[in-house]
Amino acid sequence: SSSPTPPVLAVGAVLHGFKLVRKEYIAEMDADALFFMHERTGAELLSIAIADENKTFGVTFRTPPEDSAGLPHVLEHSVLCGSRKYPVKEPFVELLKGSLQTFLNAFTYPDRTCYPVASCNLQDFYNLVDVYLDAVFHPVAVHDPKVLAQEGWHYEIEDPQQPLVYKGVVFNEMKGVYSDPDAVHHRDMQQALFPGTHYGVDSGGDPRAIPDLTFDRFRAFHGRFYHPSNARFWFYGDDPLPERLALVNQYLRDFTRADPASQVSTVTPFAAPRHVTSRYAADPGEDLSSKALVSVGWVLTHARPTPELNFSLSFLNHLLLGTSASPLYKALVDSGYGSTVLGGGVEDHLQQWSFSVGLKDCRPADRDTIVDVITGVLAHHAAHGFEQGAVEATVNTIEFALREKNKGSFPRGLSYMLSALSEWIYDGDPFQGLRYAESLQHVKNCLARQEPLFQDAIRRYLLENPHRVVVVTEPDATLGPETERAEQDRLGQVKASLSAAEVQGLIDQTKALKAHQETP
Ligand SMILES: [Zn+2]
Repeated sequence: SSSPTPPVLAVGAVLHGFKLVRKEYIAEMDADALFFMHERTGAELLSIAIADENKTFGVTFRTPPEDSAGLPHVLEHSVLCGSRKYPVKEPFVELLKGSLQTFLNAFTYPDRTCYPVASCNLQDFYNLVDVYLDAVFHPVAVHDPKVLAQEGWHYEIEDPQQPLVYKGVVFNEMKGVYSDPDAVHHRDMQQALFPGTHYGVDSGGDPRAIPDLTFDRFRAFHGRFYHPSNARFWFYGDDPLPERLALVNQYLRDFTRADPASQVSTVTPFAAPRHVTSRYAADPGEDLSSKALVSVGWVLTHARPTPELNFSLSFLNHLLLGTSASPLYKALVDSGYGSTVLGGGVEDHLQQWSFSVGLKDCRPADRDTIVDVITGVLAHHAAHGFEQGAVEATVNTIEFALREKNKGSFPRGLSYMLSALSEWIYDGDPFQGLRYAESLQHVKNCLARQEPLFQDAIRRYLLENPHRVVVVTEPDATLGPETERAEQDRLGQVKASLSAAEVQGLIDQTKALKAHQETP
């Protein structure tokens, strides 16, 4: 006998603690999307029933950082180091040995942390989801300070005569990031565009600030943001709905509703364009005369863009920079003022969209000329628009990418999740990011009527937009040694303030941590 068809859930019905709030057919996916709210905690869950065996799950928390101590990043590493039900040191390493997963990773954004997983095998999928849920809600890391020490930072010392040094997985990783000129320039641009907001600090962690991270702050950050009331759950694939809800409800029923106050702040619009100069650590002895990075950036929107504006700006971006033959890209390469084009143009992953572009290996004195090259191209296209053929090619390219949702080995369900989150994460319509046909058609109709969409957008969002920053990041052969000395001074002061017994305590901790790392 065949199994009975499950009853169709009506809007308002409750199953496993979740109330069905909305249910809509998404033509673009040929699937039903069900949006649930967990009654007890307010957790949100988006469930897609679709004939795709590559099942995808994700849990995403808004984790806006207050400073550059790297809390979101350190926590992302730390929750994967054992949990209540899976107390082994590296549950995922254990699990992956036998797993059929097609994707498993975690991402720290400037404003959120995301844990996605995908598998084609149902039992394997359930195992992975369970490990992730236990990891984010019940990590060993909030009880055992050794995890923060190992993943974040700690003092290392093996002999009382030695100086203290900082060690830690994220500390070391970010030291690498902070020595990469492109990463420095990109970060400085973001911080210059969004001063005084959550995007004005580094969610990844500044090595100079990571040692400010205390265990109390770490635990409080987890308690506040890794809470069901701040969680967005995603399910996609051919697995049954009731089990999805039951699996998550098992974890949520221990919690009560809270207000994490995790809204992302917005920047005060600039009255006039700004200039910023920053530095990166260069090797002494190298010829540094043309080793600067120069970019111009704009904050494009102060409210969430409408789906139509979203398309106009994406098309415009592709027209300007999409290929090596695109006019802005080509003008920068041909200008001879630098070696490589920097910045992909539109940055559409954050609450407020921005646009930045520039050149690498420049002379700082060419700053204004480089900006003139960029604004010159923009002014030309604001006046004359783009060739019809280029516009058609752009529309076709973007429409194809939307329809395929195919990003190599990246599971399709994960692409859809990221699309849904683009609005959902900011309390917008969770279905909006999954739908595109109507707004795409609207933009195509505008173009067919020869409306000057792109000319208007260039003027309004770029040329006449005062929320603009030009960032010059210059090489500095003294910065490396200067940073090193500041770190050693700080460590020297710490050591001088410690008693012999306290130093011995750190030596014992170093030994214990090394022993812990060496045991499987
Ligand atoms: Zn990392």
